[in-house]
Amino acid sequence: MWVSPDVLFYKRMSQPLANCEIIAVGSELLTPDRLDTNSLYLTDQLNGIGVEVRRKSIIGDDRARLAAEIRAALLNSEIVILTGGLGPTEDDVTRDSVADALGRTLVFRQDLLDTLMERFQRLNRKMADNNLRQTFVVDGAEPLPNPRGTAPGQWIEVDIHGASRLILLLPGPPSELKAMFAAECMPRLTKRLPPQAIGTRFYRISCMGESDLDQLISPVYKPFENPVTTVLAGLGDIQVHLRARAKTADEAEALLQQIAPCIEELLGDRIYSRDGSSLEAVVGNMLRERGATVSVAESCTGGMLGERFTSIAGSSDYFLGGFVVYAERLKTELLGIDSALIAQHSLVSAPIAEAMALQARARTGSTYAVSITGEAGPDSATSAPVGTVVIGIAGPDGTATARRYNLFGDRVGIRNRATTWALDDLRRAMGGNPRA
Ligand code: ATP
Ligand code: MG
Repeated sequence: MWVSPDVLFYKRMSQPLANCEIIAVGSELLTPDRLDTNSLYLTDQLNGIGVEVRRKSIIGDDRARLAAEIRAALLNSEIVILTGGLGPTEDDVTRDSVADALGRTLVFRQDLLDTLMERFQRLNRKMADNNLRQTFVVDGAEPLPNPRGTAPGQWIEVDIHGASRLILLLPGPPSELKAMFAAECMPRLTKRLPPQAIGTRFYRISCMGESDLDQLISPVYKPFENPVTTVLAGLGDIQVHLRARAKTADEAEALLQQIAPCIEELLGDRIYSRDGSSLEAVVGNMLRERGATVSVAESCTGGMLGERFTSIAGSSDYFLGGFVVYAERLKTELLGIDSALIAQHSLVSAPIAEAMALQARARTGSTYAVSITGEAGPDSATSAPVGTVVIGIAGPDGTATARRYNLFGDRVGIRNRATTWALDDLRRAMGGNPRA
């Protein structure tokens, strides 16, 4: 036997709930042309019955490499699912690799040959000798019928000193895999697993650095392995996911309660979404609820803020339009900003941002107006350092406020962040507290 039983037993004791590892097999999945989508489907299905996917990998059609990967997977995960490589050709090595990893042989199954011949007869096609490979299963495996293709799946239970492992071999074509998993695997899995549930919380936070956020909330979540906390960041937008695993939904909820209220309190109104909605959707809903409209006056973002507003279907309910005033001349000619004011304060300044917002609001008749003026780099065309962005908000009371930010990143990052900061300032102007 290739693995010490003690090792398996220890792992099992430390992981009381079932967890899974997925290995997608196929050299084509290592090229830029093909994506492994099977594991996404499987993860979704498994999560639904409380099984956590802890690791996934993609291995080319290489028998030895795949066998090594399977051995490693069996050390760590109670369920190991392989997809693909069950076809009839020489480069379909999954069967052989699993047999190698388990130190077992492949055995011929007459019933599989009968089914295969019947299928070819029905389709009026001649069976190639190659297809005989598909009539062999790993010794001890239970074949899983494949009504949509020629490759049967395999269900293999391995028991070593009371530590049980389940290995599933599923076909690569997504339609075959889905049909087989739904019909054959889900019913068996749900019967076999202890009752489990997964509870989740999902927060989206804007305008915070990833490390600042993590410093704030990590003391709360670090001590807990369950729930698992994940922080995902991109361009000024951070997602925090909590996932709790337990035997029942109530227990999962209780686990979440250990940390979720603390995290919510620490982040406060920096959380803009709890259901995954984007910032532009959240702000759009707030405007709609208030029967309010908005217009924009954009300099360094050149229309990107308007693009974000209008990316939401139905945004015509609240988004009127606005002004892309990149050149100084258009700021004066289109928006009527006094050139003396620009000369006095410079283009990237609070008085100009406020004037831009007030003028956009006055000229469109919108309830709110948002302005952005800044220096996106890479070279500074104004007196402001690269990354300086000033955002103005004009509101229903006819006044405007402006906030100055030092945003980091390259030109793409600064311009994207500027639109996020602008949307968030508007969100706060409509209800949240202004950012300190
Ligand atoms: P076949 O009998 O068709 O050869 P197979 O089990 O050997 O079945 P593969 O040859 O690995 O499967 O893949 C068949 C098709 O399924 C290919 O088009 C492949 O790109 C697609 N496929 C394989 N694995 C995946 C995956 N993980 N995600 C999405 N598509 C996949
Ligand atoms: Mg194949």
